[in-house]
Amino acid sequence: MSDYRQMWADLGMDLDRHDQLLEIIGQAYSQVYLTQQNRPEGMKYFDFVISEAHGLRIQELVEHKKSGGIVVGSFCVFVPEDVILAAGGIPVGLCAGAEFPIGDTEGIIPRNTCPLVRASLGFKLSGVCPYIQASNLMVGETTCDGKKKMYEILAEYHPTYVMEVPQKKTAAGRNLFYSEVLAFKDRVQAEAGKRITATDLSQATAKLEAKKQALRRFHAARAASPTPVSGRDALLVSQIAFYDDIDRFTGKVNELADELEQRKTRGEGAFPASTPRILFAGTPLPLPDWKIHSIVEAAGGVIVGEESCVGSRYYSTSTPASDGTLEGQLKAIAARHLDTHCACFTPNEERAQDIIDMARAVKADGVMLYSLAFCQTYAAEAVKVEKALRKEGIPTLTLESDFSMNDAAQLATRVGAFLEMIAG
Ligand code: SF4
Ligand code: SF4
Repeated sequence: MSDYRQMWADLGMDLDRHDQLLEIIGQAYSQVYLTQQNRPEGMKYFDFVISEAHGLRIQELVEHKKSGGIVVGSFCVFVPEDVILAAGGIPVGLCAGAEFPIGDTEGIIPRNTCPLVRASLGFKLSGVCPYIQASNLMVGETTCDGKKKMYEILAEYHPTYVMEVPQKKTAAGRNLFYSEVLAFKDRVQAEAGKRITATDLSQATAKLEAKKQALRRFHAARAASPTPVSGRDALLVSQIAFYDDIDRFTGKVNELADELEQRKTRGEGAFPASTPRILFAGTPLPLPDWKIHSIVEAAGGVIVGEESCVGSRYYSTSTPASDGTLEGQLKAIAARHLDTHCACFTPNEERAQDIIDMARAVKADGVMLYSLAFCQTYAAEAVKVEKALRKEGIPTLTLESDFSMNDAAQLATRVGAFLEMIAG
């Protein structure tokens, strides 16, 4: 890696702690990723992107800002990336999948708060995230109570804007979210110093749709038996989707999808065809949270899909047709986001059906329902979803965890027993 220390210092980062973080992530990456056999050639690009996640990509963001552009960070799939792109901005989805900065939130946010919420704030407080440091604005949403209150604290440390997400998908809820998308467009315009035209927005939405289409192709190829790519590699691609350059990423994912389709034709897999196939369903798996995927694949299974925001809840929604006016397009964007089947909604009946459909599409032998500790919405919903899956005869394992490795042995035992049970 080139020497980026001056750039990190200019971004106001804590260089010593950042060195520690890079060391931990580098070791984990080598262990989880570089020990894998039989990876698709196309994964080399994604290995490179990870190795330069805090280097080259940040340099690109800094250059973009120098030439007058803006960088906007977000934490959730409800924040419309195309509105940011249309204003000439770069959207970055922030990863907060590590326990590293959680200690920094002691006394600031209650301990019994979801680790994702604590880590999101912790990455700002600890000064180790170059994406937050490089962003002009961070955008939150009112999806869960933990995040809502965390953004109030974050706003004391970094420019933060919060979008209101309704709790019900009623006509009133839809109108509310449309007005939130309009207000967000105004905020982004003000930050960028540029008015968004209907053409800007339609070009940005087309780029976003192309990216999601590439992801759909790539993930659909995992349905082959043997599956042509490991769950770990597929997860990595979904994680990188949130921060890589959109056009470059779309091209590379399409190339990888081509390669997987060729592997499928040759009957070439990442694991033997007899490997038990698992669908992951639950809370997001932001970088560098590779824990469950590595435990499952070390125990002799393979993950063949993620019903998660780092996964299908991101790539499966698409923008409905509009009348082409700016207002019409923004209405369509609002509708696209309310098609997300997140547990923050009540009711959210569609999600159980999504999981059943996805389990069948990827030929899963079992489903792992996962929620991060203290995530009430997903944990509560797991009970209902498990019932629906059992009714369909789909074996299910419910797990709760956090980003630490403290429970890894216990999880491995439960996962091992589940894999044995479904292997019959
Ligand atoms: S699970 Fe819900 S709240 Fe969390 S990132 Fe996804 S859409 Fe947002
Ligand atoms: S995992 Fe649950 S508690 Fe944590 S941020 Fe997402 S919705 Fe909120």
